[in-house]
Amino acid sequence: MEWSDLPLSRSAIDRAGVRRTEPGLLDRLVDDPQARVVLVRRGLVATVPGPVADQVMLAVLPPAKVVPVVGPAAEWLLLGVADDGTAYLGLHVPEPEAHADLEGIPDEEPFAVVAPHLRWSPLREIGTDLSPQDVGLATTAVALAAWHASHPRCPRCGSATVVEESGWVRRCTQDGSLHYPRTDPAVIMAVTDVDDRLLLGHAATWSPGRFSTLAGYVEPGEPLEQAVRREVREEVGVLVGDVEYVSSQPWPFPASLMLGFRGRALTTEVTVDGVEVTQARWFTRRELDDAVRAAEVVLPSRTSIARALIEDWFGGPLTGPVEGPGWSEGR
Ligand SMILES: [Zn+2]
Repeated sequence: MEWSDLPLSRSAIDRAGVRRTEPGLLDRLVDDPQARVVLVRRGLVATVPGPVADQVMLAVLPPAKVVPVVGPAAEWLLLGVADDGTAYLGLHVPEPEAHADLEGIPDEEPFAVVAPHLRWSPLREIGTDLSPQDVGLATTAVALAAWHASHPRCPRCGSATVVEESGWVRRCTQDGSLHYPRTDPAVIMAVTDVDDRLLLGHAATWSPGRFSTLAGYVEPGEPLEQAVRREVREEVGVLVGDVEYVSSQPWPFPASLMLGFRGRALTTEVTVDGVEVTQARWFTRRELDDAVRAAEVVLPSRTSIARALIEDWFGGPLTGPVEGPGWSEGR
């Protein structure tokens, strides 16, 4: 595979950063019948059934259909502009209590009236379904919505903040300080030994049989290469020498950027920390293939960079009777 094909890294949309400060831009786009809206609610993205069975497409609605449902308090975000000039907006759909005053709108499915086939999908499960344009829009919308939802107040003084720059800044209403969306770097690594076996671990919070590459957040003041070595040493007691960067993928659940590495182990004795990681072992290609086919090992979802790192080492797709969900990479 090509590393540029990582499901959530295939974005093909102009993020239009230079337009974010245009006065009144969002107001104009909300009134623009050509504009389209991507909806996020509780971290899920709005989709509609696709042309292929069991696949979905991103739901993109004209603003005129969305405004009556979400009411005037909605916070709009500029996601980008497509090659054909269509501007795409993101919208974090308020929780039911926030639009309880809107008559005739059911709490559980606020869009049932205007978009009957709309459903709410986890991006980590549908990332491979979406086109490059739609996956870029959805990934950005989910990431930005999560940041807005968790940063309603100023970290300096606790006052309310308001959205500016087309959804890309929050400004404190008291002290005027500006706050920008956060992305948390996390390293994720395919560690191999001298016999080219791959090291996979099982996290304490996972259901039995799930194995993946080790991963962890980069700490303040820490270079990426040291983060790779530290995480592997802490979680399974293996020392890593050479470290090589491979590729990255946004993982906005809620705010991670996964930085994929290959690492060469200097030692092979595994001692799990018993807290984050409760099992870890080395696999030959044959052993992993057999274990996946027998459903003794379930790998992470095809949306994840972990899956791509594992299959890159394996040399092709690994297929078993059970498909893993896209559980949390990193913490
Ligand atoms: Zn403040």
